Amino acid sequence: MRKKYSLLIGTHNDGKFREISKLINKKINKISPKSLKIKAPKETGTTFKSNSELKANFFYKKSKMISLSDDSGLEIMVLNKKPGIYSARWAKKSGSFKKAMMSILKKIKYKKNRKARFVCSLSIKLNKKKTITSVGVVNGNISYKMLGTKGFGYDPIFIPNKSKITFGQMNISKKMRIDHRSIAFLKLKKKLKLNKFFIWNFIHVQFLN
Ligand code: IMP
Repeated sequence: MRKKYSLLIGTHNDGKFREISKLINKKINKISPKSLKIKAPKETGTTFKSNSELKANFFYKKSKMISLSDDSGLEIMVLNKKPGIYSARWAKKSGSFKKAMMSILKKIKYKKNRKARFVCSLSIKLNKKKTITSVGVVNGNISYKMLGTKGFGYDPIFIPNKSKITFGQMNISKKMRIDHRSIAFLKLKKKLKLNKFFIWNFIHVQFLN
């Protein structure tokens, strides 16, 4: 199949690249910054939104392609919404996601309030002037131990509301129908359609409930 359009998916995280690619039509050629030898910018923003916009702008400038970027993370209420925008950096500092999750479980071992949420801010830079952003949230709780080996990042300790299992135990297609990224995508699709940007047609999001 000849691919007419190219879209740069601005992430160096393979798990995210895979999940985002699945939401976009096969007709679109999905390019990774890694394949163009473009490094990641410094995430100097203080919110998910400012970071996703900063990344989309950066990748657009470097690649001259329509660029889609997200910034996402896990907010744990009793930890003052930490790790939040520092989710990836916490894992790096701890040595691995497993170690970061173990440290979180230890920190909140005796806490009754285990409320948490995954947040995703999604930005698409369409041309020099236009960037569209949307934010998706999935609420849930932190489990008492790590469960499951599916997904990536903090998936093994997050139980979304209305579910008894963690994202790590969940079938990837089920996770993708209810997670923060899909919600942000659905909102983005609506905004693109409203603004009459053809690319909305190529975003596929479906919901379970
Ligand atoms: P960034 O958006 O590239 O700065 O990284 C976000 C980080 O948040 C990821 O590296 C993961 O640690 C975490 N994260 C974001 N979304 C998910 C998810 O769906 N499952 C598990 N961890 C996630």
